[in-house]
Amino acid sequence: MANQIGGGRFIMFLFDHVAVIGLGLIIGSFLTVCIYRIPYGRPEGLDDMDEPESEDEQEQTPPDITFCSPQRSICPACKKQLRWYHNVPLFSWIFLGGKCAFCKASISAQYPLVELLSAVCAYLSYHMYGITPTGVVVYVFCCALIVITFIDIKYYIIPDVISLPGSVIAIGLGICNEYFGFFEFPISRGAIDTLYGVLAGGGFLFLVAEFYIHVRNKTGLGFGDVKLLTLTGALLGWTGALYTIFIGSLLGTVFGVVQLLLRGSKLSAPIPFGPYLALASILYMFTGLGPLIDVNLLILQLLGVAP
Ligand SMILES: [Zn+2]
Repeated sequence: MANQIGGGRFIMFLFDHVAVIGLGLIIGSFLTVCIYRIPYGRPEGLDDMDEPESEDEQEQTPPDITFCSPQRSICPACKKQLRWYHNVPLFSWIFLGGKCAFCKASISAQYPLVELLSAVCAYLSYHMYGITPTGVVVYVFCCALIVITFIDIKYYIIPDVISLPGSVIAIGLGICNEYFGFFEFPISRGAIDTLYGVLAGGGFLFLVAEFYIHVRNKTGLGFGDVKLLTLTGALLGWTGALYTIFIGSLLGTVFGVVQLLLRGSKLSAPIPFGPYLALASILYMFTGLGPLIDVNLLILQLLGVAP
């Protein structure tokens, strides 16, 4: 009897997790579409500050692709419409050996990678926050960060179409939390937390970016990063904003130096900062609770902003 109940619970547990991971993979598949089409679709407001789009990228741009058409996925190489079984997240890529079923052109590993990342984030959101308003918002923010990361790596832009509406929604959620208390850590505690978050994230980086332009007469920091940090600060509050700036800069510096040593790339070559900010925000959301809370507290203490 006890065994049966245990078995039933285990099946429920398994079902929950399989469902969450499956949903994460499916949403990940949608994210790959966003990553592929948002820069092509050019919805208005793509950051034009830092857009040194390389010529070969432009040549690859199929002229008939916008965000909404074609409706179904096509192979970028042979333009054939994919069958549904070529489109199963993660598994199709593995079974097809990373090649198009028709023309055998290799399909970027970015597709399964994004799907996998989305599934991992879905699992972590569910595992840590459950199916709660907090868990849903954390996962949606992860999805936005994944899309931003891959677009920033390829095009050196952070699309306004994500960061601006995202900031408005995040400010709304912060104000909502003030009165209704729907959300818990890591979401902003309320309107004041959100306000300080916007100032700490967007405001601070805006000054840095302006400083760079006036003193060094060039853009060192894209305003796309400023807008992303405005979103981060509005959503995660001021502790989240400071954590993201601090850890993001640290990660960016470490990886930048490693890249410099490995490839000997020039110091002035543009380095996308968005992915490091995104990674830092994700670390904040998933390590902020439990045993690692002390690490976050320590960093905030080092910054002199926590008692
Ligand atoms: Zn093909």
